[in-house]
Amino acid sequence: MPGVRGMRDILPADAASWQAVERVLADVAASFAYQPMRLPLIEFTALFKRGVGEATDIVEKEMYTFADNDGESLTLRPEGTASCARALLDAGLLYNAVQRVTYSGPMFRYERPQKGRYRQFEQFGVETFGLVGPDIDVELLLMCQEMWRQLGVSDAVVLQLNTLGSGDSRVRYRQALVDYLTPFATDLDADSQRRLKTNPLRILDSKNARTAEIVAGAPTLASFVDDEARAHFDGLLNQLQTLGVDAQINPTLVRGLDYYTHTVFEWVTDALGAQGTVCGGGRYDGLVELLGGKPTPAAGFAAGIDRLVLLRDAVGPALDNSECDVYWVVPDASYVAAAQKQANELRQDPAGVRVRLHTGGGKMKNQMKKADASGAQFAFIVGPEELAAGQITVKRLRGEGGQNSMSVAEAFAMVAREIQGTG
Ligand code: ATP
Ligand code: MG
Repeated sequence: MPGVRGMRDILPADAASWQAVERVLADVAASFAYQPMRLPLIEFTALFKRGVGEATDIVEKEMYTFADNDGESLTLRPEGTASCARALLDAGLLYNAVQRVTYSGPMFRYERPQKGRYRQFEQFGVETFGLVGPDIDVELLLMCQEMWRQLGVSDAVVLQLNTLGSGDSRVRYRQALVDYLTPFATDLDADSQRRLKTNPLRILDSKNARTAEIVAGAPTLASFVDDEARAHFDGLLNQLQTLGVDAQINPTLVRGLDYYTHTVFEWVTDALGAQGTVCGGGRYDGLVELLGGKPTPAAGFAAGIDRLVLLRDAVGPALDNSECDVYWVVPDASYVAAAQKQANELRQDPAGVRVRLHTGGGKMKNQMKKADASGAQFAFIVGPEELAAGQITVKRLRGEGGQNSMSVAEAFAMVAREIQGTG
């Protein structure tokens, strides 16, 4: 039976790339002293209606919403920021406090599946609360930059930045935009006509050619940004310049979610076709209040793990696809228990040696073939003579090759040393 459309199976062959990406994201966030949280996959539908916004694509048409047995309307989370803010607010952790947290896992959106766009996809989210910036905005962007560096994709992504101004200037701009667009209403694409009433800022990033032409003549968001917001944004740009972080200002960048204020950004690549945004974020100073808390400055981003895996595979370094480091050959099935015991000792080495023990018996020759196919560096051969002598016959499967016998301790130490050297 096929799986459900848009839901992803990540098969073993893709595991190395997923692990590499997840490890880099988690390690870099940890190196900035951010703390991981775990959040539920299911929330009250009202959380997203309020926290993401009724007029967004997500709430209008992308949510997996259902009634549970009590008739409560629940939704599979389409994003993590609203849940994260809710959880910290519920726990009383946003009151006069600073938080720097991360979370990751699957998100669900009913979209048209294609390369880089799925109905179940994974995000790595980073959120900060209680910090007004712009220094924290800079910290978040530096964190992204370090993630891309460690993934080997820096040359394939660019940072696009914009400011939405404060809540006030956004309201005034929204009105000016509606006033400008209304006379053209019938020329706009269908989505944009609808958004004129619900979420006019989204019209700015319409991909429709005629709409884009009309939008080109619209008043710019920048001309509505007040002095304070301008100072925030200039401060951000100055710090980025000092740090050597390259950014393009994109005056039409507005992002899909309602809760953004001030800084918004996206990291974009042209290596993946249409689904080019690998990470998006910014400031959302209004969110916590929307959820019933006190006004709390906040900023963060969400990286799309699926897209980062695709990007890493396209432009990043080749990965070690071996299934194990040591393939343990058992020439005589009657010694398999002894082999299990020894193999387990090697697995406990702090170097983290991956040991696969041959199972199912069979001829030496076939076992050696399996050892080769596993991608292992070494085959360990332990037959009755080796066991009696406390030795292991070690065969090198890569490079120069060669085979010799040595004590168990020597064999373990050598493998641990070489694995650490390459790992
Ligand atoms: P898009 O414009 O591509 O729909 P978005 O603005 O809806 O993106 P966000 O809500 O900001 O995306 O999510 C942050 C990141 O999560 C995106 O930049 C992208 O990398 C990833 N992402 C979003 N939706 C999907 C999806 N359906 N499939 C895979 N990745 C996604
Ligand atoms: Mg989207």
